[in-house]
Amino acid sequence: MADPTAPFDDFLPEALQFRSPAPLADIGANLTHASFDRDFDAVLGRARAANVTTLIVTGTDLAHAEQAVELARRVTGLYATAGVHPHDASGWDSALASAMRELHRLPEVVAVGECGLDFNRNFSTPAEQERAFEAQLGLAAESGKPLFLHERDAGRRMNEMLRAWRDDIVDAVIHCFTADRETLFSYLDMDLHIGLTGWICDERRGHHLRELVGEIPLERMMVETDSPYLLPRNLPAKLKGRRNEPSLLPWIVREIAHWRGDDDATLARATHDTARAFFRLPAGDGAINPGHAQQKES
Ligand SMILES: [Zn+2]
Repeated sequence: MADPTAPFDDFLPEALQFRSPAPLADIGANLTHASFDRDFDAVLGRARAANVTTLIVTGTDLAHAEQAVELARRVTGLYATAGVHPHDASGWDSALASAMRELHRLPEVVAVGECGLDFNRNFSTPAEQERAFEAQLGLAAESGKPLFLHERDAGRRMNEMLRAWRDDIVDAVIHCFTADRETLFSYLDMDLHIGLTGWICDERRGHHLRELVGEIPLERMMVETDSPYLLPRNLPAKLKGRRNEPSLLPWIVREIAHWRGDDDATLARATHDTARAFFRLPAGDGAINPGHAQQKES
């Protein structure tokens, strides 16, 4: 989750849709956001047309995590995470911990999070954030599921806390990585995965990532839209204030591939396979099947 106050509408020009040459996994899609309520099936249809076949729906608090689970039950190719975002850490208590523990037992929930530290905006105090994060590190260790982590301007503290837990947790991805080289290497040293969004396309704040993306081993990299937030700024049209959605993931892949010197297909395939393995998704699960709200067979 990036900027909870950004305005959105649901208009997406057809010219901006293009199909990835290989299947893609969007590991961070906030599809429970209210801006998707009206045209959810159309959003899934466009994702499928763009060859985005796996979607990890981010659960940032109890209500949204429960909705994410519902979506994952309803639509093939969708999976959920369940956690409490650092913005909401002030609400952490033992009842919430129990509710999260229950969610983490569900097969639809493939990661603990979104959780972590955000010292950029401090919507919850740093002390509240550390308390909620520490507890969720414990839940990840308990459940044996990987972590979906948020970190902004908190690299040093994130590092210390993760290092203390590293042997007890299976895997973790720093979603929407935006930090510097030193922080990147500290994460890679801990065997963590890195999630990349359209941040790299933002000339105002993301261009330092151009030199860094080539340093991330392909098998540790995953891609995400963080939709509806972070509309990529490399789109060939001005879409100021408009909603990001999973079908725009190929634009992000194109930008990352360019700065790495890879081709789109190689990057798509590698990040897709990494994501399927990281989230331990069953082989042979079908791709997104929008407009068919039937129960999945389990
Ligand atoms: Zn986030």
